[in-house]
Amino acid sequence: MGNLAKSEGRKETFMKIIHEKAKCIGCGSCVSLCLKYFEMTEVGKAHLKGSEEDSKTKVETLGVSDPDCAREAVEVCPVQCIHIE
Ligand code: SF4
Repeated sequence: MGNLAKSEGRKETFMKIIHEKAKCIGCGSCVSLCLKYFEMTEVGKAHLKGSEEDSKTKVETLGVSDPDCAREAVEVCPVQCIHIE
């Protein structure tokens, strides 16, 4: 039984950031506004850091306690492929 190495992992997660990667056009707006959660990949699409990706739908999901700057990313994404639930 291993303890979680990062104390971060012990935070309560009650919200989800969702990134529909298939729709992403790689404009980079989310990355420039929210480096905490987003990074650009070599294939020219944003990646939601630390997320789990559904292999079929390519939807990335990350549980967080505070979506923080991802809220701004939701507002600026031109194809509305970022969501917070
Ligand atoms: S803002 Fe939207 S379209 Fe632009 S890189 Fe981020 S997720 Fe992709």
